[in-house]
Order: sequence, then C-alpha cells, then structure tokens
Amino acid sequence: MQIHNLGFPRIGAKRELKFSLEKYWRGELTQTEFLTECKERRQQNWKIQFDAGIECLPVGDFAHYDHVLNTTLLLGLAPTRFINTHDDSVEQNNAVDLEFRIGRGQAPTGCQCAASDMTKWFNTNYHYIVPELSADLLASNSVTNSDNLLNQLNEAQAITDNRKVVLLGPITYLHLSVTGDERKLALLPALLTRYQALLTQLSDAGVNWLQLDEPVLGLELDSAWQQAFTQAYQQLEKGNLKVLLTSYFASIDHHIELIKDLAFDGLHIDTVAEHTDVQSIIATLPDHWIISLGVINGRNIWKTDLVSVYHKVQPLYRQLGERLWLAPSCSLLHSPVDLAQESKLDEEFTSWLAFAKQKCQELSLLKAALVDEKTEQIILYSSPALARCVSTRIHNDKVKQRVSRLTLSDFTRKESFDARKVAQQKSLKLPLLPTTTIGSFPQTGDIRQVRAKWRRHEMTDQEYTRLIQAEIRQTIKRQEAIGLDVLVHGEAERNDMVEYFGELLDGVAFTQFAWVQSYGSRCVKPPIIFGDISRKKPMTIEWANFAQSLTDKPVKGMLTGPVTILCWSFVRDDLSREQVANQIALAISDEVVDLIDNGIAIIQIDEPAIREGMPVKQSQWQSYLDWATAAFCLSAAKAPAATQIHSHMCYSEFNDILPAIISLDADVLTIETSRSNMSLLDAFDSQAYPNDLGPGVYDIHSPNVPEVAWMVGLIEKAQKHIPLEHLWVNPDCGLKTRAWTETKLALENMVIAAKTLRNRIR
Ligand code: GLN
Ligand code: ZN
Repeated sequence: MQIHNLGFPRIGAKRELKFSLEKYWRGELTQTEFLTECKERRQQNWKIQFDAGIECLPVGDFAHYDHVLNTTLLLGLAPTRFINTHDDSVEQNNAVDLEFRIGRGQAPTGCQCAASDMTKWFNTNYHYIVPELSADLLASNSVTNSDNLLNQLNEAQAITDNRKVVLLGPITYLHLSVTGDERKLALLPALLTRYQALLTQLSDAGVNWLQLDEPVLGLELDSAWQQAFTQAYQQLEKGNLKVLLTSYFASIDHHIELIKDLAFDGLHIDTVAEHTDVQSIIATLPDHWIISLGVINGRNIWKTDLVSVYHKVQPLYRQLGERLWLAPSCSLLHSPVDLAQESKLDEEFTSWLAFAKQKCQELSLLKAALVDEKTEQIILYSSPALARCVSTRIHNDKVKQRVSRLTLSDFTRKESFDARKVAQQKSLKLPLLPTTTIGSFPQTGDIRQVRAKWRRHEMTDQEYTRLIQAEIRQTIKRQEAIGLDVLVHGEAERNDMVEYFGELLDGVAFTQFAWVQSYGSRCVKPPIIFGDISRKKPMTIEWANFAQSLTDKPVKGMLTGPVTILCWSFVRDDLSREQVANQIALAISDEVVDLIDNGIAIIQIDEPAIREGMPVKQSQWQSYLDWATAAFCLSAAKAPAATQIHSHMCYSEFNDILPAIISLDADVLTIETSRSNMSLLDAFDSQAYPNDLGPGVYDIHSPNVPEVAWMVGLIEKAQKHIPLEHLWVNPDCGLKTRAWTETKLALENMVIAAKTLRNRIR
C-alpha cells in the first residue's frame, strides 16, 4: 500500500505565489526571477508533502495561473487572438506571457482584448480558464509541448523517485470547453490526436505513472458522452505509461460499466463526497488494477476521524494489499496550506482542524495504523474530531429549536406579489423604469486604510464611525446628484460581503492565513461555520439609519443572503447544509425585521452564489434548489407587503434554473445580463418572470463608460421580454472595484437612458 496525493495548494502558506505573480505583472521581477520563485515554490510544496509522509508525489498540479489553462498550453491550443502571428520571435510568443495574456485579457500588442472566460471548477469556488476550441484551432500546426511538465518531473526527483504526472483528461477538458458553432463532440477526434502526441511524449520520456483526471465522470453523462469516453480510451495508446483514472467531487458508481473494460491500470475513487459502494466497484474492476481510495476530505478544514476511516479501510487493505493506495478525496488545492501558522485560534478550536499539510500527515498516520495493526495513535489523534461534535461551543439549543419549529408559513410572504406591488407603489411612488445600483460604491485606498487602521485598533470607534459616516454622506450626495431613484449607503464598512456578516454572527470563526486560491493570483479566506448560528446584535442598522437620515429618497438596506454565506464558507460537517442555511436565514431574518422597524422600506438580500452550490449531478439539482430557495424565502418572509425585497445575482448563467429564481419571490431581482447581451431574457419567453426585474445594463468589470444609446438599446431589448412596468434600470453588479470618475459618468448615462425612455412613453 502506498499513500499519494492528487495535488497540493500552489499558492504557498503565505501566498508567496500570489506575490510573485503580482510583482512579475508589475515589472518588479524579471521572468527569470519569477520562474525561479515558482521553482522554489514547487520544491517547497513537494517537500511539505514528502515530509508529511506522502510517498508518491504529484507533478503537474502546479500552475502559474490555472491547471486547465496549463492543459490548453500543453496541447498547443491557445486561442489565436493571444498569439502574435506576425512576429514569432521568442519574446513575442513567450509561453509564460502567453499564459497570462489568456487569463488576463491582453493581445500580443499589449492592448486589451477579451480574456478567456473563467468559470467555477465543478462545485468548488476555484475558477478555471475556459478552453476555447474550434476545428480550425485543432487543425492548426501548433504543437503539443510537454517540456515544462517533464522539467518539473526532473525537479521533483531531487526529493524522490516516486512521482506521477497529473494531467486533465480529454473528456473532461472537452466537456469544460466552449466551441463556436461546432458540436463539442465533433472535435473529439482532433483533440485525441493532440492527447496522443502528449501521451507518447510522456511515455518516451520514461514517465511511470500518469494520474489522468476525469472528474466529469461524477456527472450523469448522456449516451453520446459515454460513448465518447469509451471511444477516447479505446483509441488512446498509453505506451509504457501506467494510468490511474481519477475522479472526484462525486460518486462514479453509475459509470463503472463504462470504465471497467478499458486499459487503465487503476482507479481513484472519492469516498467522501457522496455515498459510494467501494466493495462492488472493486468486484467489478479487473483484479490487477490499483484501487486508490480518497479517504480524507480534500476540500474542508476539519480534522478527520481516522478511527472510523480505519475501520472502513482495514478490510479493503486485507483484501487488496499492495493494490490499495490511499489519498485525499481530491486535490488539496481547495484546502488552506498549513494550520501551524494560525496563532490566534484557541487550543480547542485548533485541535478540530487540519489543513493541507495536516491532511497529508493524516494519511501517513492512517497507513501506519493499517500496516502495524495498531490504533492507539489514531485514537489519540482523532479524539478532538469526535469531541468537536459534542462540544457545547457548537451547540445552541435555542437556535436548533427555532429551526425545528419552522412551518411552511415561515417561508412565504403573506401577500401575493401583485398585492405587494400595489402597497409598495403607494408608499414608494417610484417612476417607471426606476434606477438603482447593486450596493457597493468605489472602495478607495482611503476607505481601505480607515478599515485597516480601525481593525488594528489604531483608531477609536468614534473616529471610525465618523469617517465611515462621512463616506456614506458623500455617496448619498453623489447618487442624488446623479439622479438615481433608489439609493444605497455604499458598503464602505465592508471588506467582503460574507466576511462582514460572518464576523457579526455567533458560530462563525475566522483564521489568519487559511487562504485558498480562487483564480490566478486571487485568494479568498473563507469563514469557518463551526456551530449553530445566531445574530449577536444588529449588524447593519446603524449605517442604514444614518444613510436614510440624509435623504428623502429610499435607501436600500443591504444584506448578504443565507445561501451565499453558506457557499463561500467552510461549513461544519455534523449538520446538513440545509439546516445550516436555515440557521443563517433566521439570523438574516432578524436583521430584516430590525431594518423594517427602523423604517427602512427597501431591503436587498444578495444571493450571487446560489448557482454555485449546485451538486455535480443534475438529478440532485432540484432538491438543492428547493432548500436553497427556501432559505432565501425564510430570510425575507417577515417583510410586510409595503416593504420591497430586492435580491441580486451574478457570476453565472441562470437560464437553466429560472423556476428556482422565480420561486425566490423577490419583489425586484437585479441580475447580471449585459455580458451575455441580455441572453437570459430569451429564457423568459417560455417562462414569464412574474415580479420586477433589473437586468444589468452595463458591465461593471470594465472601466469603459457605456453610451446612452447602448443602454437604451438594451432596455428596449429587455422590454420585449418583460413588461415595462416591471423593469428596473441598474448596472450588472456592485461598483466597489471601479473608480469614481467612470462610475459617475456611467451612472449619469444610465439615468439619462432611463429618462429618455420614460419621455418616449409619455
Ligand atoms: N451588494 C454587493 C455589492 O454591490 C453585491 C456583490 C455581489 O454581487 N457579488 O458589492
Ligand atoms: Zn453581483
């Protein structure tokens, strides 16, 4: 038996990779210096794994920017707009710069050009760069190039001979790509030619094991994709390579028939994501295959109860002996690097946790217990994991009772939308095509400074309040001058929409260094939901009251929804996600009630992440959506008819979950649409959107100021799908990453666009 790893966090315990990248992009490192730092990073990452007891090290999991983008470059499939075809000198088409041009949107001339799209990697919060495939590109004379990968294999030899190459497999790669007009599967033969070239290069170079990742197996592939899978692996010749087919994030029991007759040498099974019948899988597979079991959760931060894992694995070890490998469930990319850095968590809390390095150590403890048939060590190790579940710190009976007493009526507004609309119009008296924004306004360096100083206790609470209030005053004045109808306070007090609420909730903890990569150089530090959740005290009332006191126009109270808080956190594993979502929803509901009591007439509950929480398997989508939308409804349901509830969504396409979005029953939904040229609205032709809708009329990700005529055009387009009296006018998302100059001009144009249309109608 050996223990191996599928991948390790690239960023480094102190986010070293992030800082190297940003220095290189700013021109503060030469490319040679940058590459040297990356090489050191890889050595360090392998060393941590090796020292923790991992025997077979992964090579090829490291990426400067993203591993799917790496695959694109390995295959020689960079989209042509990023390549200088006139000048093929080394500098012009330098592979490292090409990589960043694709991720960050730069043409070879240095000008801006559309970056390749970026989207969520399965159901994680990691974003990959979407491959752009076409028959032309695949037929072009660009070549596959495994030099980098093979160099890294050599680098790792400094640590051990026992290494395997990690590669994203062709079916997953194709599935994750976008194509022009072509059917994806029509491109498979040409893609396989490239994969074949790559496999041959690896085999010729003497690579022993190849970990071929095909996480798409966790989906319910239709027959065409199933056939494609079989066809691909019947055709590909692996030469001298031994191939470990690897899947994660979901069970693959339903596709075992597809796999079992193909020429693989082993299978990695994620045993923690979902129930999987390992025994029957093993019985179905050829008896020379390696069985790799993913037994440690690779994407959370909890210490594993190794004793219970031991009891599950021990019979399999007896049965399989050397054929058994043990690993984390998936790449550790999704887990922070090293718990040892955390100095502010108390001892008990720390004893509940394990980050990537500790997860590797868990595997080696487990192996020792299995080999020696001794459980003392793992019993000792696991006792805090068991203690956590019964700790008084995580249980709050009041919260549990509140959730258990919920009835259907707690999840629904009392009045119908039509009745609410009448009541709201009576009190709010908004014009046709009301204008608003999504919540945040530009977060200048000054604002960040103020927050940082206050956090470091370098500023009194009074001083902090005074400065944030000054910012709110400015923001309200500016919105009035621009002529917006529904105002916001601007969110200057928030660093992050989840962190802000997390810090004010009981049952949520924060770390100092538990960063995980989100995309490129961007990392996030998710809160840890460890216990029953309740509100310590009002969370937004002071700021909301202050903002509303400055103007006669309505100012929206601004909250983050329960599903988004859940999706962007590390969540306890001793309670269902549904239950946790309901607990958060009740805390948000308490805030809603307070806002209403304070005279706030419009409340926005943001749910940008609702699409992200979807399970891998489509057959499970509906039950997720049922409880997720219910949690949102629970947070809003106490609002009386005259209180207008808004919600906001972005970052995803929502076309395929419209019924769920409708069932949120928000009075107004503002939603990202401008990047897709309002394509979402087409979906409303078959299923009318019953409430008010604000399809974003400009993309806040770009500093370009949208023209009036462009926005008028978009609103007119929207009007073909949504009745005029239901339409709102707003940008795509919050404005916190923008500067005031362009924000002011853009919003002025947006207001003119709305007025132009109002005048036409009159
Ligand atoms: N209210 C938030 C903001 O404007 C919403 C952010 C988001 O949609 N991600 O910043
Ligand atoms: Zn948004």
